[in-house]
Amino acid sequence: MIDLISDTVTQPTAAMRAAMAQAKVGDEQRGEDPSTTALCERVAALLGKEAAVFLPSGVMCNQISILMHCRPGDLIFADESAHIVNSEAGGPAVLAGATLCALAGRHGMYTVADVEAKLRPAKRNAPKPRLIVVEQTVNRGGGGIWSLGDIAALAAFAQSHRLRVHMDGARLMNAVVASRIPARDYARHCDTVWIDLSKGLGCPVGAVLAGSAETIEQAWVWKHRLGGAMRQSGILAAAGLYALDHHVERLAEDHVNAQRLAELAIRLPGVRLDPTDVATNLVFFDVQASGLTARQLCSRLLAHGVRMGEESQSRVRAVTHLGISRDDIDQAALALESVLT
Ligand SMILES: *Cc1c(COP(=O)(O)O)cnc(C)c1O
Repeated sequence: MIDLISDTVTQPTAAMRAAMAQAKVGDEQRGEDPSTTALCERVAALLGKEAAVFLPSGVMCNQISILMHCRPGDLIFADESAHIVNSEAGGPAVLAGATLCALAGRHGMYTVADVEAKLRPAKRNAPKPRLIVVEQTVNRGGGGIWSLGDIAALAAFAQSHRLRVHMDGARLMNAVVASRIPARDYARHCDTVWIDLSKGLGCPVGAVLAGSAETIEQAWVWKHRLGGAMRQSGILAAAGLYALDHHVERLAEDHVNAQRLAELAIRLPGVRLDPTDVATNLVFFDVQASGLTARQLCSRLLAHGVRMGEESQSRVRAVTHLGISRDDIDQAALALESVLT
């Protein structure tokens, strides 16, 4: 099976498993797990923040950040394609009691003007604008990279309106490798920022949330409340440390493979995509003109041993990752060709 459904399907490599097996561990809740402590210090330094906390998932990083930034009724600005809008089971409303303002951006990205257009004069009966969320890279928006300039402009706007900025950095390291801009440069503009270990970095579990020392102290309180505090988490943190040493630069291969898939796919009848839209490891294409729905296409691809994701009626998503070689891409394109012709 050539599995392009997501970069979450990556399996820990033998070397990563060996690093996990050898990890020094202790009770994380007591601050006694040396591997987890090392991972948090490493990610805090990478992101240019004072502190970081290891959490079970990216969703928990988002939800804890929202809980810290927002009070019930507060307003969160995010692109309408954002993970917190579509894929977190309404968590902001359930947990923080926050209201989402989903902006119609372009390719998952929006500008100061888009936020300004939604800002109402402060009134007793209006939800209080509180938080701006930037997804780097954008996922359902198409895998694109927010420019540093756009993030800086939003952050300056946020500061002048007393809003906070949160970065959902599930694939921030993909943006770093593709743009050659250091993670801390993107993170500088954000009050809270996290990276996922279990996507392209290839770890089995985990994400790390960074911010000021005070913020991370508060994040720890929420980690306890939500049941996210762990014990010998060093087994998992060791995978993260291994990934930061060995799986960051190789993300460039995933980007080359994604570009190759896009260039092969665009030649096929019924496929609509613009390879210049493929900035990282996510490839989206439209198949409406093929006469097949995305679901039909994906199920026929499965019969050829290739798994892609149905994003909508006519939109398909394919994700490259460390389990996918250039050969796999060529085979996936051949399978796509037989399904479409
Ligand atoms: C995957 C993803 C998340 C959630 O991360 P998990 O570790 O799966 O909980 C959040 N935001 C974006 C953009 C993602 O792609």
